[in-house]
Amino acid sequence: MSDAPIPLTKPVLEEREAEAARRAILSGWVTQGPEVLAFEKEFAAFVGAPHACAVSSCTTALHLALLALEIKPGDEVITVSHTYIATANSIRYCGATPVFVEIDPATYNLDVTKIESALTPKTRAILCVHQMGMPCDLRALLPLAKKNGLPVVEDCACAIGSQIKWENDWEQIGKPHGDIACFSFHPRKVITTGDGGMITTTRVDWDQKFRLLRQHGMSVPDSIRHTAKQVIYEEYPLLGYNYRMTDIQAAIGREQLKRLPEIVTRRRHLAERYLRHLASLPDVNLPLEPAWARSNWQSFCVRLPETCDQRQVMQKMLDAGVMTRRGIMSCHREKPYVERHGGKSLPLSESASDHTVILPLYPQMTEAEQDRVISVFTQAIGRSRNNPS
Ligand SMILES: *Cc1c(COP(=O)(O)O)cnc(C)c1O
Repeated sequence: MSDAPIPLTKPVLEEREAEAARRAILSGWVTQGPEVLAFEKEFAAFVGAPHACAVSSCTTALHLALLALEIKPGDEVITVSHTYIATANSIRYCGATPVFVEIDPATYNLDVTKIESALTPKTRAILCVHQMGMPCDLRALLPLAKKNGLPVVEDCACAIGSQIKWENDWEQIGKPHGDIACFSFHPRKVITTGDGGMITTTRVDWDQKFRLLRQHGMSVPDSIRHTAKQVIYEEYPLLGYNYRMTDIQAAIGREQLKRLPEIVTRRRHLAERYLRHLASLPDVNLPLEPAWARSNWQSFCVRLPETCDQRQVMQKMLDAGVMTRRGIMSCHREKPYVERHGGKSLPLSESASDHTVILPLYPQMTEAEQDRVISVFTQAIGRSRNNPS
């Protein structure tokens, strides 16, 4: 057994991706152009979306999604605190206030039953998160949003390749089932373009708005002017941004997308193995996959026994060559949010942040490596396993 350190995660980047980047570089067109267009088409086909627009990150995707919904200063957007801070930040970029609701501690996702009491006359939208790749309960959320006339943005940063059962069929997360879905291609996610993001939507007018806003509000993209037979002057009807994806990134993304089904299959296999082998550990809570959900297991998060200190467990594992991360943060405890949130506590979110640890999981991980993680974890929490059958 090798004692090389086991990383938390590792992107699957090989010759195919290097070759694709080379192709884009040598084509002479390196920013948003034909590779981006092709990646958008292939991505839309994969998730089953009518429209997909590539951008520079999931953070910028979320910002554009909220701008399309015309979220303004003074507005409130319902979301979770128990998420990566970019979710909440995107609401702040619009000058609006995130209103944090609690999570269901079994799935670490938004507790839909807590939404109605958080609504006010200023509520304009719901920004839900498919946390760590686990689909949130859209089947309960969407009717409630509709009843209250609220659009739904799905933060799918971690959820590419996850599925949800929809009227008896399995469908890809980000189709979207809500109004707009936002994806990330950061290396911590399931496929990567270095950095990058994608926005899917059912509405062509929003898709057009994303395309305008991601490129400075420019009425005619440079790719069109480049091939035009007549001189074209562009206009800038809106205040835009530079949120473009490059063609080098998109070329890599197209290769990553081809690998995605295989990556998800492998991640699900390893997650099932964790679930089976850790099941006999007393007082350890394992993540729950509802019957209507298929996670891509972007992160595999375990809740420690009450008596264990998170930092100590992580340090012991690091000393034994196994890297971990603390569970998902709670945004309301970070400085930009403390005052606005009024110092209120969200006990379920805080407890999840403080008592969970994310274990290594990546497609290249061998079963021997995973067994080492399991044994190091078991020792670090001072427990022993009954032999799994
Ligand atoms: C990673 C992440 C983001 C941000 O994605 P970037 O592409 O890095 O901007 C947003 N939301 C969630 C839930 C994330 O995990």
